[in-house]
Amino acid sequence: MGFRTRQIHAGIEPDPTTGSILTPIYQSTTFVQPSVDAYLSKGYSYSRSGNPTVRVLETKLADLEHGTDCATFGTGMSAVHATMLACLNAGEHAIVSDVAYGGTYRLCTKVLSRFNIDFTFADTSKPKEVASCVRENTSLFLTETPANPTMKCSDIAAISDIAAKSNAVHAVDNTFLTPYYQRPLELGADLSIHSTTKYMDGHNATVGGAVISKTDELAEKIRFIQNSTGSIMSPQVAWLTLQGIKTLSVRMDAQSANAMAIAKFLENHPKVEQVRYPGLPSHPEHELSGKQASGYGAMLWFEVKGGLAAGKTLMDNIDIWSLAENLGSVESLITHPVTMTHADVEEAERQRVGIIDGLVRLSVGLEDTEDLINALEQALAKA
Ligand SMILES: *Cc1c(COP(=O)(O)O)cnc(C)c1O
Repeated sequence: MGFRTRQIHAGIEPDPTTGSILTPIYQSTTFVQPSVDAYLSKGYSYSRSGNPTVRVLETKLADLEHGTDCATFGTGMSAVHATMLACLNAGEHAIVSDVAYGGTYRLCTKVLSRFNIDFTFADTSKPKEVASCVRENTSLFLTETPANPTMKCSDIAAISDIAAKSNAVHAVDNTFLTPYYQRPLELGADLSIHSTTKYMDGHNATVGGAVISKTDELAEKIRFIQNSTGSIMSPQVAWLTLQGIKTLSVRMDAQSANAMAIAKFLENHPKVEQVRYPGLPSHPEHELSGKQASGYGAMLWFEVKGGLAAGKTLMDNIDIWSLAENLGSVESLITHPVTMTHADVEEAERQRVGIIDGLVRLSVGLEDTEDLINALEQALAKA
């Protein structure tokens, strides 16, 4: 069945006792067993190890990504963390996109590096550079594409090949495009990671994460870490996320159409220095994006002429667009990564990977295109 049918129906049955069309919120710590011998005969024992509401969301996400199984988490960061704990031992090495979510970079450099795990931050848009970073002890590749916030794109199939030849796992952070536009497991990756906080929820209501596995073996490793570290999603959050996902494709299409119109508007504006959106032919990986994904998404960045000072004036004086972190919601958001989402990345590293001081990130929402463009036009006039 098609994506739009599955985003609504996959994993969901009417509640067997009442017929409720929406999955009930099973807000319960424990599940009473019929007898000692029939332990787990209904599938659940304790909500850290599994919860029926959460399980419905996991079944749906595995279906949408064409994976075998999914585990959900309290945040996107705990999904990234569980992936690393499942795939890396002390003394091993991981190759990570040199532009990635700021929290992913911090987790590698400030937390996991303390446990004798080595990280190389590579330009994953260049498969040759990735291949040259492989060591004998490389056991994980983590690619983020498109990357936050530079919008650099990486060839998932090419990096999956390199990872397979190195007997390593390739995990892709698929938060920006979601399985509606991009399915890493079909392109050869082993794991697809999400911050469900973003497009899956889509309404700025919850934080959550997910890891979808290609094989049962990987799914079991992730699940084991999840149960051991207690890193789970709550049934309330799973329920809200389930409601959000039902309109995922509709929101993605409308928000991406808005983003394309805004990218074109900005590219033609005399006060704009540069724009980076995968849907524009000026984007370095425009062709690759069109090949491995069926849409360009709703994230982009631009630089105002006059750099940081002009950008700050614009961000402080814009209507409709909220100056806030987060992305992927129906509300349009404007962010300054250098002071907000990527403040923990050292200045030299930011410069090296192209997170320039004047970079203004847009998460394009679902409002009227004209209103969003008018608001930008007025703010540009003040900048
Ligand atoms: C937001 C984000 C994360 C982290 O997710 P949280 O839910 O905020 O913990 C990871 N990767 C990407 C690409 C993100 O945008």
